Amino acid sequence: MNKYLLPIASSFLFFLMSCSNSNQNNNAMNTTDSTENKDFKFLTEQFGDVKILRYQVPDFEQLSLNQKEYIYYLSEAALWGRDITFDQNFKYNLVVRRTLEEIYRKYNGDRNSESFKNFLVYMKRVWFSNGIHHHYSTEKLPTGFSKEYLAELINNSSEAKFPIQKNETKEDFINKISEIICNPETYKKRVFQDSSTDLITNSSNNFYEGVSQEEVEKYYSTINQPDTNHPFSIGINSKVVKENGKVTEQIWKKDGMYGKAIEKIVYYLELAKNVEENDKQKAYIDKLVSYYNTGDLKTWDEYNILWAEDTESLVDFVNGFIEVYGDPLGRKATWESVVNFKNLEATKRTKIISDNAQWFEDNSPVDDRFKKKEVKGVSAKVITVVALGGDCYPSTPIGINLPNADWIRKEHGSKSVTMENITYAYDQASLGNGSLEEFAYSPEEIELAKKYGPLAGNIHTDLHECLGHGSGQLLEGVSTEAMKNYHSTLEESRADLFALYYMMDPKMVELGLFTTLDFAKAEYSSYIRNGLMVQLARVDLGKDIEQAHMRNRQLIAKWCLEKGAKDSVIVKKIRDGKTYFVITDYLKLRTLFGELLKEMQRIKSTGDYDAGKNIVEKYGVKVDLELHKEIKERYAKLNLAPYGGFINPKLTLVKEGEVVKDVIIEYPDDFIKQMLEYSDNYSVLPDIN
Ligand code: ZN
Repeated sequence: MNKYLLPIASSFLFFLMSCSNSNQNNNAMNTTDSTENKDFKFLTEQFGDVKILRYQVPDFEQLSLNQKEYIYYLSEAALWGRDITFDQNFKYNLVVRRTLEEIYRKYNGDRNSESFKNFLVYMKRVWFSNGIHHHYSTEKLPTGFSKEYLAELINNSSEAKFPIQKNETKEDFINKISEIICNPETYKKRVFQDSSTDLITNSSNNFYEGVSQEEVEKYYSTINQPDTNHPFSIGINSKVVKENGKVTEQIWKKDGMYGKAIEKIVYYLELAKNVEENDKQKAYIDKLVSYYNTGDLKTWDEYNILWAEDTESLVDFVNGFIEVYGDPLGRKATWESVVNFKNLEATKRTKIISDNAQWFEDNSPVDDRFKKKEVKGVSAKVITVVALGGDCYPSTPIGINLPNADWIRKEHGSKSVTMENITYAYDQASLGNGSLEEFAYSPEEIELAKKYGPLAGNIHTDLHECLGHGSGQLLEGVSTEAMKNYHSTLEESRADLFALYYMMDPKMVELGLFTTLDFAKAEYSSYIRNGLMVQLARVDLGKDIEQAHMRNRQLIAKWCLEKGAKDSVIVKKIRDGKTYFVITDYLKLRTLFGELLKEMQRIKSTGDYDAGKNIVEKYGVKVDLELHKEIKERYAKLNLAPYGGFINPKLTLVKEGEVVKDVIIEYPDDFIKQMLEYSDNYSVLPDIN
């Protein structure tokens, strides 16, 4: 549950302040020669509601040949999982993608028409979302063209090889695919959230087929944990289906479902193993390979333990079925990968935070019963990303904290990362885009954001990942699944509140993380602006907020607005018909963050489902329609895309005979080209799995 996504409001940061940050800045200058760097194109294009960016990989050239080669193989393993993510998101996603790509290549009709332009946008949005559902809202993407037009495209792509299945005619195929793509009433939502009705049959993801929520819950209730203190992540790597009337699982492993893609991932992991930096890496890659071969959950835990305990290696990676956001029951994990190496200079900052983890735990406002007596191995680092794959591509988190299993985190620690070359690219791409000026109330607020925003944002991520998720403990007998469909929102709130509460603590200055608490003020303003206003740009008018991080942000901001009303902690102002929210008392706001943190920890620790549900439903879900309309209009005038994603750098192995001489890094800038290249070169799964 521990992925931190970019809050929309923090993407307008201007220049970088701290020593570690400006160092990142300097490093970025080194990646290309200096004349080239100032022209480095961070933003390449914008379509639908997304922008496509590029990220740089500072210091790649300084890595040893071994490390570069290790990264190269891990990156290949990252790219081979792409089809799995598509298929997990929806059973017909690969059929759709292959159809769209064939049309794009072979259509010989008018390619300049309005409809064809809409087709192009749709295709790019499908690539961006790893399927036909919006990557964030999980609702079916609109097409902008009709069924008839789709049929025309297919019929006028004469040489095309469409994914027509054995038992169907071309006409069947056209009927099927146009129903899937163009009918807004079918397969409406990837992750259905309304728990008053069946979450499984109403969700279009491909984690379950032919089974009801009740059947799934019953099935899993009969599987016993062999060791309740060290529970397996049961069901994390399988699809639940019905065979001959019986509920059963199809395991994702080398000789099971997704086997062909997993075989490729394993192949490249094995190659990586031969050029690893140290024995620790070799040991956990061995475990990971063995897990992919067998699907065995005990091996998965063993891998995670070894991986979590390796805090020394420079190069690191995530590769597997990791996050459960895509399953309304929070059990099935979507495949993802991130390959990276440590940013040594900026990591000094997170080391200070993790070295003081016990102090933060002991001094938090939560009830003593819910505090960890001994905070174990919270290791935090700032990383430089080299490759994104699966669910982390093209849209990526900016921070990650893994592994997810609570008992492993407690007994073996966890690794928390801040992806700074990604946030840096966001900041660079949004220079002067006008969002800050539009939604901040005063020149002082704008000044504060410009001066302190970037570092404050990164430190928020550090605290959220490194301390927030890792803090606190459950009372004995309380299950981590107690919060069900509210789990993700509540968990993100808890982590955010931990970060927000401490940002304003004098300890931050004492530790040298901030030179002044004005950094915290900048973050508080940005958080409230975003939680109450700016993020609404991402939600369709008239709709509720669905996504966990967005619910969490509104929950916190609205709760504080309401509870602080009698002291006017946050004041709503209207100027020239525009709404603003202004913080008048930062210290009181901090106290409110502390109070809410206390309550959130109580809810989690005691498993108080009703309280969790009530607080999310009351503050996190509903949107004031008038304000929503206003925000959408103001945002639309800025002509900005509320979401961003990335083109990966391209790595090439340079060989002399069989000997690897170097690994070259390039920065392609064509989204379509990269997507087609990945579909051509990293696609072995059948159309339907
Ligand atoms: Zn998080």
